[in-house]
Amino acid sequence: MNDRLNVIILKQSDYREKDVLLSVLSREYGKISFTAAGARKITSRNSASLLPYTSARFLFDYHPGRTMFHLRTAETISLRRHLHEDLNASAAAAVLCECADALLLPGEQSASAQMYDLLEKGLDRLDHGDDMTSVLALYLADVLRISGMAPDVDECTVCQKKEVSALSVQAGGFLCREDAAKLGVPASSAADLKRFRLICKAGLSHFDAVIQAGGASWEDTVILVDFLHQYGSIALQSFRFLQEICAH
Ligand SMILES: [Zn+2]
Repeated sequence: MNDRLNVIILKQSDYREKDVLLSVLSREYGKISFTAAGARKITSRNSASLLPYTSARFLFDYHPGRTMFHLRTAETISLRRHLHEDLNASAAAAVLCECADALLLPGEQSASAQMYDLLEKGLDRLDHGDDMTSVLALYLADVLRISGMAPDVDECTVCQKKEVSALSVQAGGFLCREDAAKLGVPASSAADLKRFRLICKAGLSHFDAVIQAGGASWEDTVILVDFLHQYGSIALQSFRFLQEICAH
């Protein structure tokens, strides 16, 4: 009774006439859902705490085995205002949240603490105006590692040779010159391979080191999204939107 839980709002959708349905991530219970009665009324005291990308403390009654709960009250921990004011930052935050939402099953707790900490770190970085492309690439590298889908960036994925000259999503990582030629994969520059390897190894907790080394390229991010699509069957709608607005 009267359980308190720190959550990050992943998604908010309309529910009935004046209610909202929330998909949230918590360290303790993973991804769970809440219905918030009357939250669409402008005067609702809860409404600011229920926006996507917000960290909030929820008061509710927990029932073991359930993944949907009624919200009693919510209190904002961090609104991350910049994510609601800047279109690019907002679109990138949507990618982080959609990724967490797509990856976790309701109530699944195995990776929930890791994903929660990662998402919080990523959203804070975007909120502070840090380089969006590097935040996205490092977040995706961490997500792939947490879900056991990390690209092999230590050797040729076919013959295990250490000298590599290409990168293939299909092959699962780096390729030597011979295997790249056999598979028809174009060669990448040594600098591109080195940077991609650094991103995969570093993850978001080494953000500053990656920035000092020059940061991620947009192409790195696209490749990591492709890995998620290929090995996790996750097609991020929000990433397509981000690509569209960044192209203008
Ligand atoms: Zn090889």
